[in-house]
Amino acid sequence: MSDQKAAPRPPIESGCPDGFQYMHPSMRKNYGQWKFHEHPRPGVLRHVAHSGDEIWTVRVGTQRILDSYSLRKLTSIGDEFADGYLRFTLRSNVEYMVTKEAQVAPLIKACEDAGFIVGGTANSVAMISHTQGWLHCDIPGTDASGVVKSMMDELIDDFKECNMPNRVHLTTSCCQINCGGQGDIAINVQHTKPPKINHDLVANVCERPTVVARCPVAAIRPAQVNGKPSLEVDEKKCICCGACFPPCPPMQINDPIHSQLAIWVGGNHSNARGKPTFQKLVAAGIPNNPPRWPEATAIVKQILKAYREGAKDWERINDWIERIGWPQFFEVTGLPFTKYHIDNWKGARASLNASTHIRF
Ligand code: SF4
Ligand code: SF4
Repeated sequence: MSDQKAAPRPPIESGCPDGFQYMHPSMRKNYGQWKFHEHPRPGVLRHVAHSGDEIWTVRVGTQRILDSYSLRKLTSIGDEFADGYLRFTLRSNVEYMVTKEAQVAPLIKACEDAGFIVGGTANSVAMISHTQGWLHCDIPGTDASGVVKSMMDELIDDFKECNMPNRVHLTTSCCQINCGGQGDIAINVQHTKPPKINHDLVANVCERPTVVARCPVAAIRPAQVNGKPSLEVDEKKCICCGACFPPCPPMQINDPIHSQLAIWVGGNHSNARGKPTFQKLVAAGIPNNPPRWPEATAIVKQILKAYREGAKDWERINDWIERIGWPQFFEVTGLPFTKYHIDNWKGARASLNASTHIRF
């Protein structure tokens, strides 16, 4: 006992390790010293440093949630063809870096022979960035990975070829309140019914003040049901956001029919380098229809087709829509324009998270 007091267990340090130790040596050496970069072909970038060193980057699309078999394949390609290094991008792409042009073609061949797709750079449709989904999160209303897989199967040519006016970032989100809803085109869950409360469980599982505080429109109140402490929802006020479900799972809101998908355009990925613009709802009430989600994919393809045909070079989706106008966007995409698409809420400009810029 006295020994334990003398040498207490040290805290376990966790968190993000120093990334430099994992970098390709040439990247480490030339960190912050790059002169220029170019884009010799889809899926390949060439960076040249002031020292004269070069790095050729080959980008390969993968699913976000990787099985160990694919990981082993990817790392063995890296060992054999790419100096033993690889990195993962935010959009679940793998990037290999090599220092000589002669290494690029064999590396691409090895990736393609193993079934991976090279692309996703410059003015292509990049890999859809998607949220954790069922594997890591406790509140999804759909399987983001499944939506992404089905969509990217149909957009594979737009990933491989640079045939868009500018880059296109797509995102999916598997609940209505959290990560993933900011792409040029965002596919987000939309709940359409208030939560159903399992009163028998509330008293055992939920901290009621936390749940009451969580509701953005103050629709939840403490209540006694069958003599037990529980909660009640004012359904007239409820905006079906789902924010009460994470702290109180007995307030079930996910539903195979009434948790649907909605598609938004112009999120803050579009205007990261310009002034804040908008993020607007294009289509709502799209069936959450596994395993291939054909209705949502069809709408995304309609938007991309009209954008490819109508936008000027370098216009992102938000620039194109701003130039042609919101009603015209519906004309050229063939999607229905309804009264709900007219944003007449005065406060929206200041409060909607439509930009990556800091606001006060
Ligand atoms: S979008 Fe929502 S459900 Fe999906 S991983 Fe993020 S927090 Fe979880
Ligand atoms: S779904 Fe959202 S608005 Fe409705 S009760 Fe829950 S937190 Fe409140």
